[in-house]
Amino acid sequence: MKCPHCGHEDSKVTDSRTVDDTVRRRRECLDCGFRFTTYERIQTGNLVIIKKDMRREEFNHEKLATGIRKACEKRPLPTGTVEKLVDDIETGLLNLGKAEIPSSVVGEIVMDRLKELDHIAYIRFASVYRDFADITSLKREVDTLISGRSPASQLPLIPEGEFNTPDRRKRASPSGRL
Ligand SMILES: [Zn+2]
Repeated sequence: MKCPHCGHEDSKVTDSRTVDDTVRRRRECLDCGFRFTTYERIQTGNLVIIKKDMRREEFNHEKLATGIRKACEKRPLPTGTVEKLVDDIETGLLNLGKAEIPSSVVGEIVMDRLKELDHIAYIRFASVYRDFADITSLKREVDTLISGRSPASQLPLIPEGEFNTPDRRKRASPSGRL
């Protein structure tokens, strides 16, 4: 598991807990000490994405996360925001109760959520996804954003105090054994 801060390959697990069918692990980079969280889940495998060319592909959590992470790179978002967003979107997709979902629907959902979260991340994602033909169509999208809701209405995604578990962390073995 690469450190999102410095890219170092090794991290130790400082806390681990299971919520529903997901294991949440608090990790600490062995190189720079950066703390981050990973989520592990059983592959559900019953959601299929229909791509633009009509090919079918199994829904891939990591692929969705990568696209969103890229769009949010270096944006001033609280730690865990991207993972929370990806989880929310995935849960929303599964809750649609459909076996197959067009990739365009997934793209629209992601853009809607990013628009609420961070306008720069949204424009980044949209410019890749919508493949703006020229600077005029990109400008039109930016103008729509500026004339619309103010960024001040953007909501925090992470509830306060969720990761405050100092007691558990202290008890965790240094080797990160579970
Ligand atoms: Zn690091």
